[in-house]
Amino acid sequence: MNLQRDRSAWLQGPESVCQTPPVHPAQCRRFVLLGAPGVGKGTQAALLSAAFGACHLSTGDIFRAARTSDGRAISPAMQAAVERMRRGELVSDETVLQIVRERLGCLTCRGGFLLDGFPRTVPQAAALDGLLERENAMIEAVISYDLAEDEIITRIGGRRTCPVCNAVYHLTAHPPRVPGVCDGCDSALVQREDDRPEAIHIRQQAYLTSTAPLLAYYQEQRLLRHVPAHGTPEEVFARTLTALAAAA
Ligand code: AMP
Repeated sequence: MNLQRDRSAWLQGPESVCQTPPVHPAQCRRFVLLGAPGVGKGTQAALLSAAFGACHLSTGDIFRAARTSDGRAISPAMQAAVERMRRGELVSDETVLQIVRERLGCLTCRGGFLLDGFPRTVPQAAALDGLLERENAMIEAVISYDLAEDEIITRIGGRRTCPVCNAVYHLTAHPPRVPGVCDGCDSALVQREDDRPEAIHIRQQAYLTSTAPLLAYYQEQRLLRHVPAHGTPEEVFARTLTALAAAA
């Protein structure tokens, strides 16, 4: 399977509909991806999405899309969220949950989902459980990507993203075909503002304080699978598939 999913309903909100209806895979896969910022969740999400057809649902991508939505008015809550993101701080649970609730259709879509960057706190995880329970939708597994902090810093330093289609590259590990240019849409690649050293430190602290407790939360639910995140994207992906097969 190599499915390209339209994420407009997730990125732009409920007023936007998917241009291409999801191809329903034989099995609807629903996963949560955990791991410190820069560990490679976005890269793995793209590979998993191509393999399983599940949509890559990143809350960070929603905030980045709002920031670059030229001309379209953004709400004061979204503006505050974008400011916090710039500084590397977490957006409030209230704002994140409001944004996710508005996109409930993406969580219940029969194409499945790969949640990346949400939930990020225990209250967000509890709220997600409540939403999914009401819709009779189950998370199949929670994958935690594990990597030493110095390697994470190296990865973040080389990360470049496409501001238009959100594709993620790395200067040495996963370079674009033409330096500085997105393979998918020819846009000029950029370094995320929150990948600057001062914001990285704040993000790593936020992960340790607010997100790491989710490991125990999902361990208790017997959903957690650890995947070592060193090596090439393909190696990490192969480990991910092995971990998921062992869980099935
Ligand atoms: P990411 O792309 O997942 O690294 O997210 C980028 C930034 O968006 C984070 O550093 C936060 O400022 C914000 N953000 C994304 N998702 C969440 C969330 N679930 N809770 C709080 N803040 C979030």
